Amino acid sequence: MPENKINFIDLAAVYKLHQTEFDAAIAATLNSADYINGKAVGEFNLALAEFTGAQHIITCGNGTDALQIAMMALNLQAGDEIILPAFTYTATAEVIALLNLKPVFVDVYADTFNIDVAAVEAAISLKTKALLPVHLFGQCANMEAIRALANKHNLYIIEDAAQAIGAQYTFANGEIVQAGCMGTVGCTSFFPTKNLGAFGDGGAIFCNESELALQLKMIANHGQKEKYIHERIGVNSRLDTLQAAILNVQIKHLPAAIFRKQAIAARYDAALANITGLSIPYRDAKSTHVFHQYTLRIAKRRNELKKYLADAGIDSMIYYATPMHLQKAYQSVEFPKGTFPIAEQLCEEVLSIPIHTTLTDAEIDFIIQKIKDFFAVAIA
Ligand SMILES: *Cc1c(COP(=O)(O)O)cnc(C)c1O
Repeated sequence: MPENKINFIDLAAVYKLHQTEFDAAIAATLNSADYINGKAVGEFNLALAEFTGAQHIITCGNGTDALQIAMMALNLQAGDEIILPAFTYTATAEVIALLNLKPVFVDVYADTFNIDVAAVEAAISLKTKALLPVHLFGQCANMEAIRALANKHNLYIIEDAAQAIGAQYTFANGEIVQAGCMGTVGCTSFFPTKNLGAFGDGGAIFCNESELALQLKMIANHGQKEKYIHERIGVNSRLDTLQAAILNVQIKHLPAAIFRKQAIAARYDAALANITGLSIPYRDAKSTHVFHQYTLRIAKRRNELKKYLADAGIDSMIYYATPMHLQKAYQSVEFPKGTFPIAEQLCEEVLSIPIHTTLTDAEIDFIIQKIKDFFAVAIA
């Protein structure tokens, strides 16, 4: 057993990994004291545009704000419906409800955990205005079908790419596009544990239309284009200059970080592929997977395995334990228990194991060993 506990993520180790660069970036910001919309924010905008291929990027305070600003910019009316997966992080549903729009939950695929497009089609009504796919755990939703549905029914696509920065989707026509850049508007988060993480909060919105970009920018800045001229109701949501300085370091190392996570995933895959009662993450051939999470499905014995790993000093997490339609805040007579059987079952079966970039190969092998021990599979 390793001397130390294996943490689910190790942010102190992330800092130490590039400490000189972080320290220099932070010192430069402190010396210039341009804390609000400073130079580092502009630089990060350019770096992110180059990395993603997005034509317009609006940075903001966090990923939840990104979703809210995106929805505000689409000028939706109270009661308009947005279709989203029942198996997601709360922020996705929260902003819909907050803006007096209606979250219409649908079930997800059992294999990719992403929104089920047949269910989306069945849920489209005259009030539907937007589809909100979440690229869960780092793999893109079925965007080919979502695009086709959006075109057919004249709907907006709002992508929640908070977990999938850097994931690439290949459309049938050969077009390859990054997560967040495939829809009307895409949203992401720089929460410290995300693949492109700040040392605090941050977020961004992607879009490819200049008029929409203008509106997004205006909304994020109190509804003003010119100082003290308020054209519409907005919010105050900015990416902090210090966080941008940190992100400028992080984005340089993002390709290597994704590569490392994919290598860890491959090591897990090879070792855990043939265990009865356990499923490794499914790969959709159309999308790359950037492994924000490496999420197993454990039939029946999930909680038992979680405890077994904890006793061996290995952290694991359940994302998510409760589907959105069964959260108290979003309960409605329309979506009683049993409405989304796959989402409900996943909540009983998923277990995410450590996949952070600072894991050592010895730690990975120890995690594998313990999982195999639990299932009593002979080690070759
Ligand atoms: C993290 C996350 C968000 C929100 O990001 P914050 O920056 O924490 O506001 C939204 N959606 C999903 C799917 C997320 O994982």
